[in-house]
Amino acid sequence: MTDEMEACLVCGTGGVPVAYGYLTPQTFLAAERGEVVLGGCCIAFGGPTLACPRCGTWFSPRPPHSNRATSEPENEGELFDRG
Ligand SMILES: [Zn+2]
Repeated sequence: MTDEMEACLVCGTGGVPVAYGYLTPQTFLAAERGEVVLGGCCIAFGGPTLACPRCGTWFSPRPPHSNRATSEPENEGELFDRG
């Protein structure tokens, strides 16, 4: 675990966690302080887990190794060996 928070993709403000499901009084107080954003009662698997307290953008933290284009074929060029 790390304390490093992802920055908002739009305005660069540090994101805060989206609180799914467990809406306790502490959660509401934290939301009032801007420490979390209330995400609703349903947990969205694979959905955004961070929200920008400034502009309201929801986003997902990037994985550590994200410089890989998933739409590109991996073995491109290997079939065209001209010698
Ligand atoms: Zn923002």
